[in-house]
Amino acid sequence: MDADFYTQGIKIDASKIFDYTNKSEPVSECNKISRLLNGGLLVTLDIAKDTKPQDIKKSIEKASELLPSFKPLRHAAICAECGFKDEPFADKCPKCKSPHTV
Ligand SMILES: [Zn+2]
Repeated sequence: MDADFYTQGIKIDASKIFDYTNKSEPVSECNKISRLLNGGLLVTLDIAKDTKPQDIKKSIEKASELLPSFKPLRHAAICAECGFKDEPFADKCPKCKSPHTV
């Protein structure tokens, strides 16, 4: 994990973005800081790992209306047995079939 990611960036919950407008605090805060930093702010759109693909698409579209720039981040499950994390999976590891994920 990159610690700078948390201290320098702002994280927005993708499941809440539908309730946000230009005037919502996280959005106006992002835009304000982004202006101060000349667009150098890293805004992360935090997408839960069980989010459906169509909802991911919608939240990204909504975020692009509200934010000058952002980076979608989907939490992928990581296998506790073999460390597999190359592709998203819901319950079992595709590599070793372990149900233990973190
Ligand atoms: Zn595994």
